Amino acid sequence: MKLLIVDDQPFMLRNIERQIPEIPDLELFSFADPEQALAWCQDNDVDLIILDYVMPKVNGVEFIKRLRATPERENTMILMLTAVNEPELLLQALAQGANDFLHKPANLLEMKARILSMLRLRVALVGLQQANRELTRLATTDPLTETLNRRAFLERADAAFSFCRRDDKPLSAIMLDIDHFKRVNDGFGHAAGDAVLRGFAVRVAPILRGMDIFGRLGGEEFAIVLPGLELQGAVKVAERIRETVIAAPMPTDQGSIPITSSFGAACARQSDAEFAALLHRADEALYAAKSNGRDRVEMSV
Ligand code: GH3
Ligand code: MG
Ligand code: MG
Repeated sequence: MKLLIVDDQPFMLRNIERQIPEIPDLELFSFADPEQALAWCQDNDVDLIILDYVMPKVNGVEFIKRLRATPERENTMILMLTAVNEPELLLQALAQGANDFLHKPANLLEMKARILSMLRLRVALVGLQQANRELTRLATTDPLTETLNRRAFLERADAAFSFCRRDDKPLSAIMLDIDHFKRVNDGFGHAAGDAVLRGFAVRVAPILRGMDIFGRLGGEEFAIVLPGLELQGAVKVAERIRETVIAAPMPTDQGSIPITSSFGAACARQSDAEFAALLHRADEALYAAKSNGRDRVEMSV
């Protein structure tokens, strides 16, 4: 783990360094210049900072404010050191995000105890954060295709719809569905069907832009939200996906399986009260694509 000491007085730095007893797996870094320390913190995932309060240019509270502005340093532990006994400064430092404080000159044993306890907390926090991220990923992702699941897709689609409505920007949606997918399952087995679904999602993703929203609504039915695109733009995207899908058969354990897909595109209208209205029109267009022979793009005008 990484421990950083920031104190403008070099003799204090050396003092603290000497005082900090051997703690296994702890890398020690120190800066007398808080600006340099902040720059270093940008690139280093520091676990604990022992921070002097009174420093020229950047005092301890200002240091914490600037450090916490980087989201990745939100949970870096901060132990504030101060020579002066000024409860108000300490309160301010704690309110700003310091986790604990010590008075200078610090007692060796007490400092060791605080460092160990803060490092333990840091380990627990990092573990919780990772677990939280993983839970969020699991709750929003379709496990088979790793696209957004239905709930996460609809949530983000609603948000994008409101955002474009507020900014008076266009927004389009595409419903897409693999043709005669049941035949894949019936002819090659469910596992091959799964591989086709995964392969389909893999081909769609690179065609989309970072702001586009792509999800699996269920079965072999997917949907895409394209913020900022008018109907013609959405039709072009759908056409590109259709061509990419038929360009090469899907690799599965049962050999390569050629598939086609059908698309329904629609663009948001002023009269749409919510995203569901737009999705409904895209679904109607998809239905038309199926009735008109499949392997095609239809739009709702
Ligand atoms: P259409 O061209 O009209 O869309 O016909 P289709 O056969 O593709 O559509 P239909 O809705 O009749 O059948 C969809 C099939 O998809 C039925 C279902 O068993 C299968 N399916 C749904 N989810 C999964 C899945 O996760 N894995 C696999 N392998 N099959 C699935
Ligand atoms: Mg289908
Ligand atoms: Mg279907």
